[in-house]
Amino acid sequence: MHKYKRNEKYSLPTSDGFFGEFGGRFTPPEMEDVLNQLERDFNQAFNDEEFLNKVYKTLQEVSNRPSPLYFAKKLTEYYGKGKIYLKREDLNYTGSHKINNVIGQALLAQRTGKKHLIAETGAGQHGVATATVAAYLGMKCTIFMGAEDIERQKLNVDRMRLLGADVRSVEFGTKTLKEAVDAAIDYWVKNANDTFYVLGSTVGPHPYPLMVRSFQAIIGQEAKEQILALEGKLPNYVLACVGGGSNSSGIFYNFIDDENVKLIGLEAGGKGVDTEFHGASLTMGKKVILHGMRQYALVDKNGEVCESYSISAGIDYPGSGPELCYLKDAGRAEFYPITDKEAVAAFKRLSHTEGIVPAIESAHAVAYLEKLMPNTEKDDIVIVSLSGRGDKDCERLIEQVE
Ligand SMILES: *Cc1c(COP(=O)(O)O)cnc(C)c1O
Repeated sequence: MHKYKRNEKYSLPTSDGFFGEFGGRFTPPEMEDVLNQLERDFNQAFNDEEFLNKVYKTLQEVSNRPSPLYFAKKLTEYYGKGKIYLKREDLNYTGSHKINNVIGQALLAQRTGKKHLIAETGAGQHGVATATVAAYLGMKCTIFMGAEDIERQKLNVDRMRLLGADVRSVEFGTKTLKEAVDAAIDYWVKNANDTFYVLGSTVGPHPYPLMVRSFQAIIGQEAKEQILALEGKLPNYVLACVGGGSNSSGIFYNFIDDENVKLIGLEAGGKGVDTEFHGASLTMGKKVILHGMRQYALVDKNGEVCESYSISAGIDYPGSGPELCYLKDAGRAEFYPITDKEAVAAFKRLSHTEGIVPAIESAHAVAYLEKLMPNTEKDDIVIVSLSGRGDKDCERLIEQVE
C-alpha cells in the first residue's frame, strides 16, 4: 500500500498553482497546452490509488523504501540533550532523495503513453537519477547539460552515457544550467506528443512545484509514521537543506497541519550573506518572476536576478520553490543561512561521530544543530533530512576539512 496522504487543513496550492502570492504559471503562450495537459494527467494519476500503489512499489523495489529513520546516538551524546534522528534519504538508489520524484514522474510519463524522458542537469545528480529510471523502464532518455558543466562533472556524464542516455551539450550563453533549462523546454514544446520533461525540484510553472512536492512528500509521511512508532509522539523540529526546495517541501508537507512541529529550512550561506557569494534567497531575496513562477530570488542593485554561489552545487540556486516562499511569509517555516565553512565542519562532524558521510548539501541541515541544540529542551526530538550521501564530495572537500 502506498503512503501518499493529503493534509486535512493545509490544502495549497490553489487550482491555478498559487501558494499565497507565489508560484502560478508565467510562461510563453506556446507552453500553455503542454502544461495544461500535464496538469490534467497528474491530477488524474494522483487520484488513482492503483497508480500510487505502483509508484510506491517501484520505490520499494528500486530504491529500498522506506528509508530508515535513524537514531543518531553519538551525535545526540555530543550535544548532551534532546534526541536527534536522521531521515536516511542518502540510502536511496543513486544516492539522494531525487529518485523519489523521478520514479513518480517517469511512471506518469509511461501511463500517458510517452516514450522519451528528457531532463536538464547542472551537477549531474538529477540527470543520473533520470537516466537510471529511464533504463529501468526501458525508455529513451536525453539529458541537456551546459558545456561548462559537462567539463566539470565528468564522472556523472560518463555514468549517464553508460546508462544509455544521450547527453546533449548546450553551447550558448553561460553554458550552464540556465541554458540547459532553456534547451530542454524548447525541445519539450516541439516534441510534447512523445516526450516527458522530468523536472528535478519544486520549481518551474504549475503543476511542477505541486507534482514534485507530492512525490517527495513520501519522505515526511514515512518519517511521521516512524517517529510515532519509535517515540509515541511527534518531533519538535524538522530540519532540511533548501536548494529548489524538494527535500524540504517533501519532509515538511505532512507536518504542516501539526502546529507544534517547527519546520526549519537551511539555505546556502556561501561566504556569508553580507557578501555577494551566497544562495540564501529566502533570507535575502526579493519577490520576482523567474523560471515561470513568482518566488523569492536574489537580485542585484538594478533588480536583475543574479547568480548564486555555494560550495554545494545542489543548493546553488538563485531562487526558491513557491511553497517555501509561502510558508516563510505565513510564519509556518523558518529559514536560515549556513556558510560553506559551517557546512564543511558538519560534513566532518557527522562522518566522525556516526560514520555517515553526508552530501555537502545535507551537511547544511546538520550544521544548524550547532545553533539549535543549545536552545532545546531535554526531551526535544529533532528530525534532520539527510538528503544525500557525500561520496561525490570527498575528493573535493578533504583539503578543507580541518
Ligand atoms: C539536489 C539536491 C539537494 C537540493 O535540492 P532540493 O530540491 O532543494 O531538495 C539537496 N541535497 C541533495 C543531496 C541533492 O542532490
